This record gives sequence, structure tokens and C-alpha cells, in this order.
Amino acid sequence: MGRSRPWTMAMVGALAVSACSSKGGGRAASGGATALDGAAGAAGTPGGNGEVPPTNGCGGNGQMSGADAGDGTMTVTLLGTGSPIPASDRFGNSTLVEAAGLRLVFDIGRGAPIRLWQKQISLGSISAHFLTHLHSDHVNGLPDLWSSGWIQTPFGSRKTPFVIFGPAGTEAMMANLWNAFSEDRRIRLADEMNPIEGIEYEAHDVDPGVVYCQNGVTVSTFDVDHGELVKPARGYKITYRAHTVVISGDTRYSTNVEQAAHNADLLIHEVAMIPTALIDQYPAYAAILAHHISPEDAGRLFAAAQPKLAVYSHIVLSGLPSAGIPFPTPADVLAATRTTYSGPVIVGTDLAAFRIDDTGVSMVGGNGGNGGNGGNGGNGGSTGGTGAGGASSP
Ligand SMILES: [Zn+2]
Ligand SMILES: [Zn+2]
Repeated sequence: MGRSRPWTMAMVGALAVSACSSKGGGRAASGGATALDGAAGAAGTPGGNGEVPPTNGCGGNGQMSGADAGDGTMTVTLLGTGSPIPASDRFGNSTLVEAAGLRLVFDIGRGAPIRLWQKQISLGSISAHFLTHLHSDHVNGLPDLWSSGWIQTPFGSRKTPFVIFGPAGTEAMMANLWNAFSEDRRIRLADEMNPIEGIEYEAHDVDPGVVYCQNGVTVSTFDVDHGELVKPARGYKITYRAHTVVISGDTRYSTNVEQAAHNADLLIHEVAMIPTALIDQYPAYAAILAHHISPEDAGRLFAAAQPKLAVYSHIVLSGLPSAGIPFPTPADVLAATRTTYSGPVIVGTDLAAFRIDDTGVSMVGGNGGNGGNGGNGGNGGSTGGTGAGGASSP
């Protein structure tokens, strides 16, 4: 069977989102533009059919969508602090940002759906998903989140399209997943009678700039430096009222990250430590290490950007104990960071959570913190809850 309806009236509400996209204009999934024409008018937003002029932000001229129903706080939860290393204590990279009634997920690495459900957050309740780049460790939880979130149970129940933004290749990846999961879709439509809209998707290949504005929350993306052959690679900046969260994505020292994170409340940054002895045995590690930032360079960046709190996630700590090469530890990462930076920094752990409000940044969940191996994190502390529209962290 061919593609089912790539666009439906259920997507009308999302048009305002694409309307505030920057250069890329928030292109729809393949074939979407035609179906959009009528709907755009109904949404009452400018354009929507590819005629949207570039914007340098949103919030003015009616571009803002939705009301700011929040209380001004942001909550950030590390769903996965790992890398391609198939570790049980650090799942693949993924970060949840909650603000103003929205749930935004950045990267969807291995196990992200498990971490969400540990917090009793249904997979179908994510407002929008964002990818930094298309390395497998950032997307291999995506088919799970997308498909399991469609099952009409407490852990799923998505009834509207899966909304995703990412660099060039994101739309194509979703189209390929659509084909790859055709049998699952055929069976569940007939057997469970799931609503088709819940498995449809709205994918946007986006260029640097503002890509999403909703309820007073603005998400912008910027280029980072993940190596000459790993392009596009991006970071994200999320702003809500006076608060800012920056996610570095995978990158070496990037002045774009430094600038985006200047005086930010929270900077979530990747880091890598790989022992020389391991590189000698597995030369592939040399290229891997060259694509990431050292703790010393990360410290320099933190010192320049001065975030209120820096948190490491996407933590590449490679070792081979069976060959006498121990894994570097979080303490090793911190010690190396301290050679160049004396400010607030934490080595994140899965399910560590941070609350940002007018009093600053505080840790509210998980067992995050500088040492240990993370385990399965805490219980999410007070940041969870599955009710829609909760006052502080919906
Ligand atoms: Zn990468
Ligand atoms: Zn990665």
C-alpha cells in the first residue's frame, strides 16, 4: 500500500508551528503541500503552503501559537545520557523538556521510551520531537517511540500525528519508516482499530533558525561541529519567558554552542574520554574521539559561556576492562573539566531532572550528580505526572 494520508485536518493546529519556521519553512512530509492549501486558511496563520517568509523568531505579528498556560518554569529530564555504547545504565541520548504544557523530546536514542514510561509519561503525549543529527544513536529509539506510542493504552494513546523536526534527511527517514512498519500499521488498524492519525507523521527538514513556537516556548537550531563529514549536525536552544536551555548535540568545541549558551540557565553538553591504550587497539576510536569534545575543552566552553549550570549528557566513556583498560569514570570527567572550569557542572545520569524557575536551576529528580554509574535513576521526583496541563510540569 502506498502512503496513507500524509496530512489530515488533525494537522491544522500544527500549521502555526511551521509558519514560524525559519529558512526551511517547515516543509511537510512528501506531498503535504497540496493538501495544506485549504487548511492553512482555516488555521488563520500566515502561509502554510510554502509561502512563509523567513522569520527570525516568533511571538510577534500573530505568529505565536497557543496560550502560555504554564507558570514560567521549565523542567528538563535526561532520558538517556549515553552514546552508541550498549550500556544498561546509560541509555541512548535523549532529553525531555517540559514547559507551558508542552513536552518536547530532543533526540530519541536507544531506550528513550522506557525512560519516559519510568516517569509514567505516555509515549503518545509528546508534543514535538527534535533531532540534532541522524547518527543512529540519536534515532534508534524513534521507531519504538513512534510505533509503541500509537497503541491505545496508558503508555501510548497517540491520536494525532507524530511531529518531528530535524536536519535534512529527517523527512526521508520518516517516509522509510512508514514503509518499514506497513505490516504493523495494517494489522493494528484492522485488529485494534487504532486511529490512523496517531501513526501518521508530520516531518520537517529544517535549516538553522527558529523552528518551533508554541505556548510561549521557542525552539531554534544551530550548526555545530561534529566533524567535516558529519553534516548537518545541530544543537538546539529552547527559550521560555526569561529562561533558556541549550542542548549541544554531538560536537567538538563549537563557538555556536558557546554563543547560544551565553548566560543560559542550563547547558547540556556532550563529552568524550577514550584511553589511548584503547585507541591503539581499536583505531576506529581515533575518528570517534575526533568528533567529540574533551572535558578540558568543554570546561573552556563553560567558562566562556557561563551557564548557570552545565550538565554532561551523551557521555562517551570507553574502556575494555577485559583487556586491562578500565572505563574512565564520571570523577575522571569532572577532574579533567576542573582543569579549565571552576563553575557549576554535573555529570548527568539517566532520569536526572532539573527545574528552572526565577530562583535558578535546581535538581528535582533522578539520582543525577557527579559520581556513580547512574543505575536506573530515581523515580523522577516531583517532575512527573501524566495529567495534561499540570501547573508546573505537565
Ligand atoms: Zn553523532
Ligand atoms: Zn551521538
